[in-house]
Amino acid sequence: MTRPTNSMSRKPYVFTGNPLDRAAILRKDRSWLAKTCLDKTSRILPLCQLRPLVTLDETPKLSWQPLVELAGMATPGSLVMLGVLDGCSYFSADFSIAVEANQFELAINGGQFEDARGIASSLSSGDAGILAQARSLVDWHLRNGFCSACGRSTEAFDGGYSRTCNSCGAQHFPRTDPVVIMLVCYGEECLLGRQSHFPKGVYSALAGFIESGETIEDAVEREAYEESGITIGNVFYHSSQPWPFPSSLMIGCIAEAVTTLIDIDVEELEDARWFSRAQVREGLGRASWDGESDFRLPPPLAIAYQLALWWVDAGDPFGGQSKENTGV
Ligand SMILES: [Zn+2]
Repeated sequence: MTRPTNSMSRKPYVFTGNPLDRAAILRKDRSWLAKTCLDKTSRILPLCQLRPLVTLDETPKLSWQPLVELAGMATPGSLVMLGVLDGCSYFSADFSIAVEANQFELAINGGQFEDARGIASSLSSGDAGILAQARSLVDWHLRNGFCSACGRSTEAFDGGYSRTCNSCGAQHFPRTDPVVIMLVCYGEECLLGRQSHFPKGVYSALAGFIESGETIEDAVEREAYEESGITIGNVFYHSSQPWPFPSSLMIGCIAEAVTTLIDIDVEELEDARWFSRAQVREGLGRASWDGESDFRLPPPLAIAYQLALWWVDAGDPFGGQSKENTGV
């Protein structure tokens, strides 16, 4: 059976191109899992301090290693089955302890550990997508060795997609934390803000975690108002991006401002301003975390860049319908 896809609506963002079939039914089958762990064709992506093993030839690639040869060196309880592709099974696990003990380098066939955020945009989209899955899942296992209900030890099941408490039986599942990131628009201008820790000149879309009991639209409205004092009218979903630091889902939205007077929350933002399309286009041309102090957007790795890139050519996404209540 071919996995259904909706490729038309998928955006080619970094971390979005995972080609693996996660094999959600197969991974619950203990005998299949045991057999595939012993299969010589099964591959593993080692992580050390959540940095992936990568080969840095012309095109950097994830450095897959034979699972049977390395499984014994993995940090106990950190092994996850990522999925299957073309009859081969792919895994990941933490190897920080083995690396620390100098056992690891002798056992592998090339590669070095690289910072995930730094290397992600140099990888193919498929590799970056797999990295997002592996980094988030392995991090979750390393943080959840003990039960949040009773404090006793937990054990991994379902190929690493759940942990069960050995004492009270509580089941725990990997979490994904939803974050709204919104480009607030008002006619021919959009609102961008900067946090004090951003490099000089970098302005980005406003963002924040969705709180319990909120819809995406509620969170966009609340975060925009809290951070900038701007009241939001209509909101629409644009696109999303996994952000494995450690396990967020960035939900990109376009939000309609119905007021324009900025009143920033100085705890959250150092500055927020309205920018014209021409200014944003220039800022996209200089997009980077590094550089001079000129106004610019974060690099293409960030969904904020992609939202702004869409907006500069999109016209007024709300058709200029709600400008009567300007608040100025
Ligand atoms: Zn428990």
